[in-house]
Amino acid sequence: MKNFTLILVGLLLFTSCKKNDKLLDSDIKEERIYKSEEVKKTEEAIKNKTTIDGDSQNLFSIVIHGGAGYINRETMSPEKEVEYTQKLEEAIKTGYTILKNGGTSLDAVQKTINVLEDSPLFNAGKGAVFTHEGRNEHDTSIMDGKTLNVGASTGTRIVKNPINLARAVMDKSPHVMLSGRGAETFAKEQGLEIVDPSYFSTESKKKTLEQVKNPKDNKVSVFYNEDIKNSKFGTVGCAALDKHGNLAAGTSTGGMTNKRWGRIGDSPIIGAGTYANNNTCAVSSTGWGEYFIRGMVAYDISALMEYKGLTLKEASKEVIQNKLPKIGDGKGNGGIIAIDKKGNMVMEFNTPGMFRATMNAQGELNVGMFKEL
Ligand code: ASP
Repeated sequence: MKNFTLILVGLLLFTSCKKNDKLLDSDIKEERIYKSEEVKKTEEAIKNKTTIDGDSQNLFSIVIHGGAGYINRETMSPEKEVEYTQKLEEAIKTGYTILKNGGTSLDAVQKTINVLEDSPLFNAGKGAVFTHEGRNEHDTSIMDGKTLNVGASTGTRIVKNPINLARAVMDKSPHVMLSGRGAETFAKEQGLEIVDPSYFSTESKKKTLEQVKNPKDNKVSVFYNEDIKNSKFGTVGCAALDKHGNLAAGTSTGGMTNKRWGRIGDSPIIGAGTYANNNTCAVSSTGWGEYFIRGMVAYDISALMEYKGLTLKEASKEVIQNKLPKIGDGKGNGGIIAIDKKGNMVMEFNTPGMFRATMNAQGELNVGMFKEL
């Protein structure tokens, strides 16, 4: 009788557990169905950048830089300030128009950078700085945040618009990065515009090379010295979010004055000078490239967002104001421009100034140079 009672209690317990299991299963299923029904519309809306009632928000934005460095009011004439402002405006409006008309962020980035490359004001394309040997050698990269595809080229001397070469490497070659003469051969094969190396030369950049090579205090200088700290770096870059929710970023530069031995900076290095990922942000860097490579600056910002849940603003601040200066005893100077997947824009720099501009979907334009924007 005692045994029978024990078996009966056991059976009852077993049945009740099974019942609870079943309840639990169905609860979870119901919960899942409930949740997916609940969030489906919102998720879809976020994906398509539309409001829940279906109205298109046309969420898009664009941000550019024209280099960071010792840019301040004391050393900038009003005429020069106007010149820079006009060119930055022209460039960003080019990209803005593409985005407004439903074009891709990749096209916006490329065409915006073309305007800056064609201007001798900046250190990219025409107006690139000189190498130790007196040449202009260009580095560039572009990244598609949707596919994580990239294209980059380094050390080219005859390709008029280096960013077009980066785009061609991404779209038309099985590789992601080409260098020197091989990259130029590919550019020719792709029908890109080729120019005589003298096209890139400007008197002001020649003078800067002389100053760096013959510093007043006779200290050996590699790229940079106190005598020319009034000259900015001048690399150009752009990050954009298009109406389709895709991010892209690109960067183009002549590198740093007096560079030698085929020196490559951060601008063509994906993760350092350029990075874009639809899950996080699109970034273009400018500054002392050696430190940006050591800090993997552009990717680090994305990684802080992805793995630590920081906002774009928090991540950019942490990398540019805190991590980067520590890498090279304070020599890690420069800045970034970036956009996140919601269209928030950031321009963070630890130098006295950075040429920069933003435009949002409403067409609001902001242009800045000095710290106090
Ligand atoms: N980052 C570039 C380089 O090191 C220079 C610049 O941003 O102006 O090549």
